[in-house]
Amino acid sequence: MSRLLITGGTGYIGSHSAVALSKTGHQVVLYDNLSNSNRTILQSLGLIVGHHMSFVEGDVRDTKLLISTLTSHNIDAVIHFAGLKAVGESVEKPVDYYANNVQGAISLLQAMQFAQVKTLVFSSSATVYGEPRYLPLNESHSTIATNPYGRSKLHVEEMLADIAASDADWRIACLRYFNPVGAHESGLIGENPSGIPNNLMPYLAQVATGQIPELSVFGDDYPTTDGTGVRDFIHVMDLAEGHILALTYLSRNTGWHAVNLGTGKGYSVLDMIQAFEKASGRQVPYKIAPRRAGDVAICYSDPKKASELLKWRAARTLDDMCASTWRFHQFRRLSVES
Ligand code: NAD
Ligand code: UDP
Repeated sequence: MSRLLITGGTGYIGSHSAVALSKTGHQVVLYDNLSNSNRTILQSLGLIVGHHMSFVEGDVRDTKLLISTLTSHNIDAVIHFAGLKAVGESVEKPVDYYANNVQGAISLLQAMQFAQVKTLVFSSSATVYGEPRYLPLNESHSTIATNPYGRSKLHVEEMLADIAASDADWRIACLRYFNPVGAHESGLIGENPSGIPNNLMPYLAQVATGQIPELSVFGDDYPTTDGTGVRDFIHVMDLAEGHILALTYLSRNTGWHAVNLGTGKGYSVLDMIQAFEKASGRQVPYKIAPRRAGDVAICYSDPKKASELLKWRAARTLDDMCASTWRFHQFRRLSVES
């Protein structure tokens, strides 16, 4: 059992990971500036885990607040989810992305160094591989960033490698997520982006509920089986469990480690539409639209390193991903109506 600080803890992946970590006996403190989440989630988290979760409202760039949180809660390790994550927005607002993601990480590292907390799990992304030169993508694939968001992730990964090289006490895992989707099985928490979603799964859900009339499928002329883009969609609870095993690994190993969290399987956009229709019992109207700038045709992981190092492997199916997303959206609709 450890005492964990979870930055970005009220966000999508942070909240699901907080549940998984809490259920396995870890004590968690959530830390978030609520720029892309909302404190009402604390109630849902309390219902799921059966007790109140500690929450500190704050920005990761507030080094003093981080130091006092780390010391007053006697934190053993940090999981760093906080940051901005929209690729398109990062091209328009690069300064915000570097400020939140890079400056935020520097502030966190300064606070951790001061408080002598030297175990960190960092939310990285498959975006650090850029355009795949081969598939499946393993951790030895070259890294290159093609937009400010990706560059911010890569900068932080590199900074973390430097820190681990400078001081042998650090224990750092950079988890490179593929495409996290789905929701906790209770349906009480899930992905709830504000405004029109950028990503496929929340968009699909909003078309199925009738909030948006139809889905645009970005391109049907890719060199894939059905011409639409292929991604490695991974259930957010599988991803959450990867963080538990990463912490176990770090409790036995020092140094810097980059590990993919993906299923190793790719599904196309049309596969996703079909699976979502099956899970929801609703039709998902769609039209074929031009390719979206910056999209790659196919991206999926080699999950071997996660299996060997962390003893982790994704267990949930595509149907689980769609069914849990649908359950979350139905619960949300009921709670909005009541
Ligand atoms: P999210 O936006 O739901 O959660 C991020 C949380 O961080 C939000 O609650 C937000 O309020 C908070 N936050 C942002 N800037 C902050 C700051 N400066 N100080 C304190 N809190 C701050 O996003 P998510 O999908 O849960 O992503 C979590 C992490 O995983 C991010 O670092 C993201 O880049 C990474 N990631 C996400 C995906 C994905 O598809 N969701 C894929 C790869 C990597
Ligand atoms: N996609 C789509 N319509 C949408 C959103 C996404 O066809 O409204 C496609 C997109 O082109 C890509 C796949 O779905 O092939 C996954 O996109 P997403 O934005 O979810 O993830 P990422 O691009 O980060 O892999």
